Amino acid sequence: MTPQTQILPFSGAVAANLCPGCHAMVGTKHAPGCRFGPGVVGEPRRPAQPLPLRVRHKKSGNTYLYLGEVLDVTNARDGTRCALYLREGDPGGPSFVRELREFWEKFEPVERLN
Ligand SMILES: [Zn+2]
Repeated sequence: MTPQTQILPFSGAVAANLCPGCHAMVGTKHAPGCRFGPGVVGEPRRPAQPLPLRVRHKKSGNTYLYLGEVLDVTNARDGTRCALYLREGDPGGPSFVRELREFWEKFEPVERLN
């Protein structure tokens, strides 16, 4: 068998062509919540954004500080990627957590703080 006609064993083909996390094809987007995402399978992840990031709630216009991503390990939600954030100008107030996908539906970045 020449290298051109050699067929990879199944597991090798999977490793070569699919994301091991969400099984999306190389060149396509990771499934939402994939631990190797976000982004395109086979491409390096964008460098992490400097934190905290000032964000605005699209409806209320209130600004918050996005502190970063956290992983919910509650049994029923194990592995759910969430956003950790707090209300700007409310240092004694609570921190909030919300599923990452929902967070970026409701908030938009305003500017970088650093
Ligand atoms: Zn993936």
